[in-house]
Amino acid sequence: MDRRHFLSSLGALTLTGAAFPEWLLALPERPRITDIVVHRMRTLGETGIMESAWAPGRPYMRRIGGGTVTEILTDQEGISGIAPGLSQSGLASMKQLLVGQDPFDNEALGHQMRYTNGAASNWRDVGCVEIALWDIVGKVAGQPLYKLWGAAKERVPAYASMIQLSTPEERADMAVRLKEEGWKGMKIRLHHLEMAEDIRTVQLVRESVGDDFTIMTDANQAQSSGIWQPGIQWDFRRALATARALGDLDVYWLEEPLLRYDFDGLAELNRLVDVPLAGGENNQGVQEFVWMIEQGVYDILQPEILVTEGVQGLRAVAALGLAHHKPVIPHHGGGQLGTIAQLHMIGTWPHCPWVEIMNDPPISPYTNGFAIFENPPTVDGEGFMAMPQEPGLGVRIRRDLIMAQ
Ligand SMILES: [Mg+2]
Repeated sequence: MDRRHFLSSLGALTLTGAAFPEWLLALPERPRITDIVVHRMRTLGETGIMESAWAPGRPYMRRIGGGTVTEILTDQEGISGIAPGLSQSGLASMKQLLVGQDPFDNEALGHQMRYTNGAASNWRDVGCVEIALWDIVGKVAGQPLYKLWGAAKERVPAYASMIQLSTPEERADMAVRLKEEGWKGMKIRLHHLEMAEDIRTVQLVRESVGDDFTIMTDANQAQSSGIWQPGIQWDFRRALATARALGDLDVYWLEEPLLRYDFDGLAELNRLVDVPLAGGENNQGVQEFVWMIEQGVYDILQPEILVTEGVQGLRAVAALGLAHHKPVIPHHGGGQLGTIAQLHMIGTWPHCPWVEIMNDPPISPYTNGFAIFENPPTVDGEGFMAMPQEPGLGVRIRRDLIMAQ
């Protein structure tokens, strides 16, 4: 059959409808958004008081479960989308924008939220809404999001991100314990007053676990995302000396060694040292990643879904990273539904070799945050987290934990 005849026969088939299977022609009514609610989740117990390394002087009780969850409801039976809890102040304007809309129009709705920044009182709310809309899309399609977006992997190694500073000896013991459980990597906080103590911590951990274990380090110098965080402030000399010392200890990256917008200092540091520099968790919006890439600030990009313009923003940063040959390994995403949303994105990215899981047992294990799920993902005995297989985000919240409004 020549091209002209082929095309005309195709046209005839299309006109009669014979080219499409019946089920495709009989698509159901499009879903419409009917309401948005923010649930407060009950806690299931306390695990102890811990001080985060990046926030000295602010210890607080760690709890199992708790937190808030956004739920976007639709007019289709059993179809709703969940996400981290958006702010109470943003709820009314989000309802005004979203109720009556088609949740599949998430790019148009997201554009309105970003363009005006009015429907959202902050960027975090945009991310929350986008996650919930995509959860709805996945549920209507009957596919987990990583499959819908294009799967690249079925599981990813998780690294245990430490929370407290602790002593070098205790961190070394923790590393051995984690390795025995199957974890393949851990991230150590560098917040001691003296640089020698930071380096001794990494040395002891490396000696204790051997060469077949990945060590990341984080100085948290590009804070803060909301609260005043006192503690040691690095200058360029300390950052340079630390980075050079870490270069002898097979460290996978040094994270946030200087202030968030010291692009000149970071680029200079990056030229002088071998250890890869990582960062970006506090950088807002895709444009800041463009500038950081142009200036050679970081080797590894770490966008955070609730800071960097939501699902659309994170996927845009991932494309930037791919185009510039830089791994993209997101910041943890909050330890509940933000982490799950990022897990699905990681499942679609060939250039993301790890997922960050906040895990500092016994007081702050990752299972604390995941306790709000009926079917929480877990880190297996080989240190991997598998992609959730149910539609959408693939996790269900425990309805019995929702507190009365
Ligand atoms: Mg960090």
